[in-house]
Amino acid sequence: MIIDCHGHYTSEPPAFIEFRKQQIAAFSDSSKAPAPPQISDDQIREKLEPAQLKFQRERGTDVTIFSPRASAMGHHVGDAKLSAAWTRICNDMIHRIVNLYPKNFIGVCQLPQTPGVPPENCIPELERCVKELGFVGCNLNPDPSGGYWKEPPLTDKWWYPFYEKMVELEVPAMVHVTGTCNPAFHTTGSHYINGDTTAFMQFLTSDLFKDFPALKFIIPHGGGAAPYHWGRYRGIAQDMKRPPLQELLLRNVYFDTCVYHQPGIDCMTKVIPSDNILFASEMVGAVKGIDPETGHYFDDTRRYIDASTILSAADKKKIFESNALKVYPRLAKQIQKQDIAASA
Ligand SMILES: [Zn+2]
Repeated sequence: MIIDCHGHYTSEPPAFIEFRKQQIAAFSDSSKAPAPPQISDDQIREKLEPAQLKFQRERGTDVTIFSPRASAMGHHVGDAKLSAAWTRICNDMIHRIVNLYPKNFIGVCQLPQTPGVPPENCIPELERCVKELGFVGCNLNPDPSGGYWKEPPLTDKWWYPFYEKMVELEVPAMVHVTGTCNPAFHTTGSHYINGDTTAFMQFLTSDLFKDFPALKFIIPHGGGAAPYHWGRYRGIAQDMKRPPLQELLLRNVYFDTCVYHQPGIDCMTKVIPSDNILFASEMVGAVKGIDPETGHYFDDTRRYIDASTILSAADKKKIFESNALKVYPRLAKQIQKQDIAASA
C-alpha cells in the first residue's frame, strides 16, 4: 500500500473560500458573521475529482492522510474564538470528504491555535476529531503568530499539556506552520522551510523526548534544512555534549518526502535512516507545475522513490507503508474501518 502522509484540502469550492473572507471581514463586528457555507456534495466532488483524486489515480498512490489547507489555518487572524470557529468548520469539511471518499482519504486535524493562548486550549478539538471523527493525527503550528515567532519553543513546558493529550490519544503531530504575515518571508518558499528547520533545532537542544518517550513528530517538506545540513547538526550536538542525533531524536522525529527533485530525495535517503522517512507529496500544494527537466510534476514524489538506487526494496516498503503505520498508531485500524485496500 502507498500511503501519502501529507495532503491538504486545497481544492475547496469557491463558497468555502468566500465564507472565510466574510468571516474575517466580520471579525470586528460579530453581528455580521456569515452563516455557515452551504456546499453540496457535488460541489465538493467537482473540485476534488480533477485534482487530488486524479493525481492519486495517475500516480498509483492508495490513500492520503488529509488535513485542511495549511496556509489558510491563519492562527494569527482574529482571536481564539474565531480560530476555534474556523478550525471546526475546516475539520468538519475534512470529515465530510473522508465520508465521501473513504477509500482515498484519512483525516488529520487543524488545531484552533491562537498567539499567546496556551495550547491546552486545543485539546477539546483534538479529542473531538480523534474520538468522534476518526482522525489519526494533527497539524501543530510552532509559530501561531505567522512569522514573528512569539511563542515559546516547542520544547517549552507551555506545550506539555497538549503533548500529554497527544500521547494519551496515540496521535502524532506534523509540525506545520500556516501562512505568514511577515513580509520578509514567502509562505511556502521560506516560512514553511524555516518552520521545519526551527522545530528540528528546538528538538535537538532539548530533553523533550526524555519527558515524552512516546511523543512523535513528522517534520514535513523533507525536514527543512536538516538532512542537507546533517553534519552541521551532528557537530552542534557534539559540541553541546548532546547524545548522537540517532539516539537523541530518531525515535521520535520523522521526515516526509515532500522534496521535489531526485537529487534532494537522494541526499535525504543517504543521510536519514529509512526507518525515519514517510512517503508524502503534499499534492496539490506549494508547487503545482511540471518540471521541464523531467516532464513530470515536481510534486510527483513517488517517481523519486521508485527511481532511487540508494534505497532497497525493503527500504521503499518502509517509506511507502510501514513507517506510516508505526508513526500513526491509529492508522491501521482506520484503514480497516474505511475498508481501504492497496490498488496494486
Ligand atoms: Zn503541508
